[in-house]
Amino acid sequence: MSRVWNFSAGPAALPLPVLERAQRELLDWNGSGASVMEQSHRGKRFMAMAAQVEADLRELLDIPDDYAVLFEQGGATQHFAQIPMNLAGEGDSADYIVTGHWSEKAASEAAPYVRVNVAATSKADGYLRMPARATWNLASAASYVHMATNETIHGVQFQDVPEVGDVPLVADMSSDILSGPIDVRRFGLIYAGAQKNIGPSGLVLIIIRRDLLQRPGRPMARIFRYAEHAASDSMLNTPNTWGWYLAGLTFQWLKEGGGLAAMAERNREKASLLYSAIDGSGGFYRNPIDPAVRSRMNVPFTLHDSALDASFLQESEAAGLLALKGHKALGGMRASLYNAVPLQAVQALVGFMRDFARRHG
Ligand code: PMP
Repeated sequence: MSRVWNFSAGPAALPLPVLERAQRELLDWNGSGASVMEQSHRGKRFMAMAAQVEADLRELLDIPDDYAVLFEQGGATQHFAQIPMNLAGEGDSADYIVTGHWSEKAASEAAPYVRVNVAATSKADGYLRMPARATWNLASAASYVHMATNETIHGVQFQDVPEVGDVPLVADMSSDILSGPIDVRRFGLIYAGAQKNIGPSGLVLIIIRRDLLQRPGRPMARIFRYAEHAASDSMLNTPNTWGWYLAGLTFQWLKEGGGLAAMAERNREKASLLYSAIDGSGGFYRNPIDPAVRSRMNVPFTLHDSALDASFLQESEAAGLLALKGHKALGGMRASLYNAVPLQAVQALVGFMRDFARRHG
């Protein structure tokens, strides 16, 4: 078997024990004689599993009972639109905090459904820092405040949950959910595409305070309405059964590994090892983000001479380090250090980077 160290931004590395278990169970899941993909979502076995997966997630994130948890088909992009459709009525406005590519996209995709007020943005700073909370121009009448806790492309991450008063805080946590404990009570709605810290793509998780399910929103088909999904336990139509199952294996793996506090500790150690290597490279490597808000999940960096990029990518891949090419918007490199990426992978990356700098410096 030749597994590489995988730094993909998403779809991203899954925990090896999760893949091995899925492999063992592929042909005969749970004594059923068929794979989990081949049976009804309304069957007893699947229903029991789905309930356990939700219970495990509730335990990991300490989700209170007055929040519904939805396991939906699709991705986060769909909810850029579905959130305003559900939470805002005709003529309402919403505040958006724009701190990078994804929150900018969330704002532009919401625009057909709600009056978007960009209450704060760090765009003029190239998204290298967070806009100071004191400068945010929030409206008390806003339907909600939207933020992305971690910007997957730009590599900036909120280190605290901002105080926004009584207006519900909506957070795209696609790229840092489950990377550490969070206080769910601070949010009205949390959403995350699965393909980074949860499981395969095609599944999206929504955690929504139940009172928000009462909002009439806009006229829409039932399939778009969160209240309908909550009322049918995410089985309004056929769910992504395979994704739901794999998410469950990941949640069990997290619980066995000591839960989210232990995960946060490991993620801090991994990120600090890589940032130290970048900062200590004498300018060979560079990450321009304000150190106070650097992401622990996605670390973009450049080489001092971009003419070396192709060799860096070629040699790193030959060394078993996969998917270090940066997003095309920024160029350079990016290493994503999600939960399933072990410290050993980051040690291998840092070792390679030192060696490469020595040979090309
Ligand atoms: N938000 C963030 C923070 C992301 O990283 C991504 C995907 N990389 C998205 C939204 C879009 O997710 P999807 O492709 O699942 O629609």
